[in-house]
Amino acid sequence: MANPKKNDSQDGRKNRTVPPKPTAAAELRELFIDELKDIIYAERALVRALPKMANNAQDANLKAVIGEHVAVTEGQVDRLTKVFAMLGEPDRGKKCDAMEGLILEGESILEETRPGPVRDAAIISASQKIEHYEIASYGTLVAFAKILGEDEVADLLIETLEEEKDADLRLTDAAYNTINLDAMEEDAE
Ligand code: FE
Ligand code: ZN
Ligand code: FE
Ligand code: FE
Repeated sequence: MANPKKNDSQDGRKNRTVPPKPTAAAELRELFIDELKDIIYAERALVRALPKMANNAQDANLKAVIGEHVAVTEGQVDRLTKVFAMLGEPDRGKKCDAMEGLILEGESILEETRPGPVRDAAIISASQKIEHYEIASYGTLVAFAKILGEDEVADLLIETLEEEKDADLRLTDAAYNTINLDAMEEDAE
């Protein structure tokens, strides 16, 4: 074996139950608020990160799809601020490790591709991973809002969920309509 050193998943503590922090959520409402803090952090990070993706895209349609999603994302931050106000909670974010990681991957994929159709294909790949994370997050948040009886909040979160699905579809269209084919031709040259 290459690495004889034991880690957490190899030793006997593998299946241990995790002791909660003193601040840990005890009720579903607290978990809901925590996950809202996670997603508002993620959306704010995206407002800063997405323009770099758009600037590095070559295909005009892809540039437009991502550029328009920056504006949509700003609206999503405002919508979340409204949600926090409706729930009587401060709109403070909490670091989303997953989105930080997805954004870092998106940046490294730029360095690992040459400008043109291949980089565009990579930008779509990274962007769709981001949209899918958001779709999963908002899907859960809508379910939590409904079960907690927060129907107006649920309606707002559904609006965002639909925007994320729309962005994902537009990225898929960009990939299938031109970019992946162009990237293939690049390979053949
Ligand atoms: Fe979003
Ligand atoms: Zn997150
Ligand atoms: Fe997260
Ligand atoms: Fe999005």
